[in-house]
Amino acid sequence: MKKDYVESTTPPEGYDPQREQMLDFKVEEDLDKLCETDSKNFILTTVDELFNWARLSSVWPVTFGLACCAIEMMAASATRYDIDRFGAGAFRATPRQADLMIVSGTVTAKMASRLKRIYDQMPEPKWVVAMGSCAIGGGPYFKYGYHVVKGVDFIVPVDVYIPGCPPRPEVLLDGLMRLQDKIRGRKGKFVQPKWVQDYASKIPYVKPEKGR
Ligand code: SF4
Repeated sequence: MKKDYVESTTPPEGYDPQREQMLDFKVEEDLDKLCETDSKNFILTTVDELFNWARLSSVWPVTFGLACCAIEMMAASATRYDIDRFGAGAFRATPRQADLMIVSGTVTAKMASRLKRIYDQMPEPKWVVAMGSCAIGGGPYFKYGYHVVKGVDFIVPVDVYIPGCPPRPEVLLDGLMRLQDKIRGRKGKFVQPKWVQDYASKIPYVKPEKGR
């Protein structure tokens, strides 16, 4: 079949043959080098740190969703956001194989005892993420929702709070990174996104009236 395009033999602009060579490493030779007795490639760590590294790289959430926030959690585990990059994509169908509970949605009084039972069935060490304003403090049901628990931390201890109604999947991934910081034994660093600063600077200052 006649080709309707011309094949170019000249490399594209910006092509770096050295980079190509760097990517073309020889696995066998590199492994041999690593095994040499005078090799400087060794790591020193503690058993605790090793265990924590393994834990934070494979937090397995329990398959569990309560309301609309659960849809965002499902989106986070799908291909576009790919929660598997954090080793957290293995949603377990039984709490006995899970070490993370993502409370994604409204916790009703009826559901509270079931939630506690699932948490109790998870083996230690285990972590809880409160996802969305409902799980954090009752959300839109705070005032009139007689049937809603005003914060899941009344029932189980919470490690990371993720605000929003609902929080986007990116925020859940960020919460997951904060949890990894916590497991690593470090405090999470608070980073204020630039859009928050821009938005806050545009809100006009209203001087309070006298006597208020
Ligand atoms: S926080 Fe908002 S989106 Fe999430 S469960 Fe509550 S009402 Fe739904």
